[in-house]
Amino acid sequence: ATPTAVMVGTGVGASQGVLIKGGQALESTHKVNCIVFDKTGTLTIGKPVVVDTRIFIDTSPQEFTSLVAAAEVNSEHPLAKAIIEYAEKLRQDEAYHVWPEARDFESITGHGVKAVVQSKEVLVGNKSLMLDHNVTISQDAEEILAEVEGLAQTGILVSIDKELHGILAVSDPLKPEARQVISILKSMKVNSIIVTGDNQGTANAIAKEVGIHTVVAEAKPEKKAEKVKELQDAGNIVAMVGDGINDSPALVAADVGMAIGAGTDIAIEAADIVLMRSNLEDVITAVDLSRKTFFRIR
Ligand code: ADP
Ligand code: MG
Repeated sequence: ATPTAVMVGTGVGASQGVLIKGGQALESTHKVNCIVFDKTGTLTIGKPVVVDTRIFIDTSPQEFTSLVAAAEVNSEHPLAKAIIEYAEKLRQDEAYHVWPEARDFESITGHGVKAVVQSKEVLVGNKSLMLDHNVTISQDAEEILAEVEGLAQTGILVSIDKELHGILAVSDPLKPEARQVISILKSMKVNSIIVTGDNQGTANAIAKEVGIHTVVAEAKPEKKAEKVKELQDAGNIVAMVGDGINDSPALVAADVGMAIGAGTDIAIEAADIVLMRSNLEDVITAVDLSRKTFFRIR
């Protein structure tokens, strides 16, 4: 393509909210045959909501969620925000939106949080967080988790002094356009896969809803990048679409990194293309634009 054609291409992109950081990004995009999607905040809306609690001990839901909120109040994670919102809703009276004091707060990336509340050790997070701290997960709890994950929700486990006290079910629905976008990409000969830090069960259920067959779950940031490299080594030209700090190594590793505009600054900086509207249809816009710019000339 001529420099003018590339300029026109990036200009058209910008006018549609697809920010392409330079000619190389626009050129690489037309060769993409494989797209790796992050789940939370990319395929899903990214605004998780607590939809259910299962409590195993003799305590009120208010008491239970207050303790959980106390442990989560210092976390920046979207799941923590969902828990705080839920705890506030259970305590209608705003005068009670004060959680017990938490000490020794610790955020364990990709697993959850840990804090001391009312002299008790509170853990909130996924199964590996519990297993790493020698918390036993009962058969009952396993069944509830499977049920929750089958509904494409994430089960968050809560232990107090190493004993499992309850599970919160969190729902983060698919973006309305997600399924159709994946199907259109397929018709454009672009294969889609999911990589996520979330558990296998939830990831599989979301994959099924959106029409994707390949899922890499429980993936740490480096693992996401490794998957991208693995696909490249197999001869694919790979785009990565993500919104989080945990996606930035993969965004950099990919032939084309695409960041969701509503995502974190670190992801936006790491990406070659920014989807300002945060709408997945713009993945198609980017591929289309690149194909039009680079196929026309040959
Ligand atoms: P994703 O790749 O889907 O954005 P993360 O790597 O951020 O996921 O987190 C992976 C998993 O770790 C979450 O699905 C959740 O089970 C658990 N987790 C992480 N942070 C928290 C938190 N603050 N509270 C509860 N659970 C958490
Ligand atoms: Mg994400």
